[in-house]
Amino acid sequence: MNSKDREYWIQKAIEQAKLNETPFGAIIVDPEGRHVGAYNTTSKDGPAAHAEINVIQLMSQLDVEDPRALTLYSTVEPCPMCMSAIVWAGIGQVVFGASIDDAANFGKQLHISSKQIAELAWYPIQVEGGVLKDECKRLFT
Ligand SMILES: [Zn+2]
Repeated sequence: MNSKDREYWIQKAIEQAKLNETPFGAIIVDPEGRHVGAYNTTSKDGPAAHAEINVIQLMSQLDVEDPRALTLYSTVEPCPMCMSAIVWAGIGQVVFGASIDDAANFGKQLHISSKQIAELAWYPIQVEGGVLKDECKRLFT
């Protein structure tokens, strides 16, 4: 996966976030480029309806044999709830824009990094942050 691909998919996650005028959008992509996307719907669906949780609910549409081949892109670093859901979903790669520390400037956050949770998982998960970070931070303003 090169940096252009990462930026392309984070841009798609940004478009998802803008659909519901929240800072939070997420995309899951399979190796062929098939993808599903979602945004944060907490105002309608309750406090657990983060973008990553919502997109994981759509994951079965991708029909992959091994979810470790999937990459989840998120405008903001997955919170501990979402990162745990990503582990339970078996997703192999996570790429995000703004960090939990960035997001904490605009609201409450649990200060546990996605990498900390990834290290506790029973399979390897690659986590990379800071892709289109400034564009993602701008979604908060
Ligand atoms: Zn979350």
